[in-house]
Amino acid sequence: MEKTIAAISTAMSASGIGIVRISGDEAMDVISRIYRSKNGKKNIREVQSHTIHYGFIYDGEEVVDEVLVMIMRGPHTYTGEDTVEIDCHGGVYAMKKVLETVLKNGAVIAEPGEFTKRAFLNGKMDLSQAEAVIDLINSENEYALQSSVSQLKGSVKSAINELRSKILYHTAFIETALDDPEHISVDGYGEILKGVSEEIIEKLQKLIDSADDGRIMKEGIQTVIVGKPNAGKSSLLNLLAGHERAIVTDIAGTTRDVLEEQIRLQGLNLNVIDTAGIRQTEDLVEKMGVDKAKEYAQKADLIIYVVDASKKLDENDEKIMRLIYDKKAIILLNKSDLETVVDENLIREKISNLKKEAEQTEKSEGQRYQVSENIPVIQISAKEEQGIQTFQDTLKEMFLRGNISFNEEIYITNARQKNALVNALESMKKVIESIENGMPEDFYSIDLMDAYEELGNITGESMGEDLVNEIFSKFCMGK
Ligand code: GDP
Repeated sequence: MEKTIAAISTAMSASGIGIVRISGDEAMDVISRIYRSKNGKKNIREVQSHTIHYGFIYDGEEVVDEVLVMIMRGPHTYTGEDTVEIDCHGGVYAMKKVLETVLKNGAVIAEPGEFTKRAFLNGKMDLSQAEAVIDLINSENEYALQSSVSQLKGSVKSAINELRSKILYHTAFIETALDDPEHISVDGYGEILKGVSEEIIEKLQKLIDSADDGRIMKEGIQTVIVGKPNAGKSSLLNLLAGHERAIVTDIAGTTRDVLEEQIRLQGLNLNVIDTAGIRQTEDLVEKMGVDKAKEYAQKADLIIYVVDASKKLDENDEKIMRLIYDKKAIILLNKSDLETVVDENLIREKISNLKKEAEQTEKSEGQRYQVSENIPVIQISAKEEQGIQTFQDTLKEMFLRGNISFNEEIYITNARQKNALVNALESMKKVIESIENGMPEDFYSIDLMDAYEELGNITGESMGEDLVNEIFSKFCMGK
């Protein structure tokens, strides 16, 4: 029998209420030992499932807290087991005291993610849904929240299961046919399987492609702002950050003076790599050196180049343009409220010259340069707050293909899941290769089974205990 577990499931900070959750076969025993109703007459063991009861938690004869107790008997609970939730006063000390009392009376402390792990092991959800639970908790914007809710409802699970059952059907067919060649013929079957495999590959590819959007939704757009001193970089950053206090965090693996500022824009997050240079109105390129700036620009999902459109372009602008012209970038012509001397045409001309230059170099050096033809150029005024809406709309267009709809589309937001999809795709490609090369049928079924297993990693069906433990260990306490 699994042990009965308990944990504080709400935040460990003083708040209005706190919840101590108990799950397991002995949950009702534990609560009956420590709960007393107001008049002391109610037997909590005998109440109906899914009901709430007012009363007190006692540690021996000492009253620990005044509470509401939720009684939920399995299997219709989150974990599938008997579950009790004690709604107590939300002080950290009070919650701890209630938890201690619970632990003294027969429960053991839950590991992080153990409630959800039990839900998974008891078949209440598959692994993709369990992972959606963590994502939901960690969601920092509307898109991330919606995509995890959709995954929690089973969108990823059903897409994957559909593909798996198709694969299984065909593997079974091949195996049966090979066992019983007299009655089942595999003549011409290669062609059918090829068609099916192509369909599966197309679906897998679509899911894999969605992971780019998924990552952007979940983690935000890694953004670098470049531009000469006084172009208006800080003004823009402040404007975008609005009145909301910017969250500043260290980025692992970088020097301490590089901070990340997170800005929420219409459901998208911009993670602006805020080099000290931006804040101190010094030029990023000058301050960090071209190589370092290049490195950041290389890693970024987006480069925002702020130009002071009231001043003539100079060789520093050219330096910056060289840095960005082949990347995903937006050029903002700032200070549109002043008399301007730089316009979109001028910028486009410069970029087109750079492109020609690059093509020349390409010829002489034999390298291939990829030039972003359509870097958006937008007029703004950070001071007058003009053009910001166009900028936001452009961002959406650049980073989220079309309108995001969570009803029909599935977004893969999880690197582990993406990896499994990529592996499954590779195996399916091998199936087609074997068919085209006229290999014997048992070759197909090996690769089909590989794809099947890989997809099973997403739902958690073909997964070792160690891996499952590792995934759940990333959960927070009490979930
Ligand atoms: P940074 O060095 O690129 O970070 O530039 P700042 O944001 O510090 O701005 C430099 C100067 O330009 C400040 O005096 C700002 O008030 C001013 N500035 C910024 N944006 C605008 C704008 O849109 N219009 C006008 N007229 N001035 C601006």
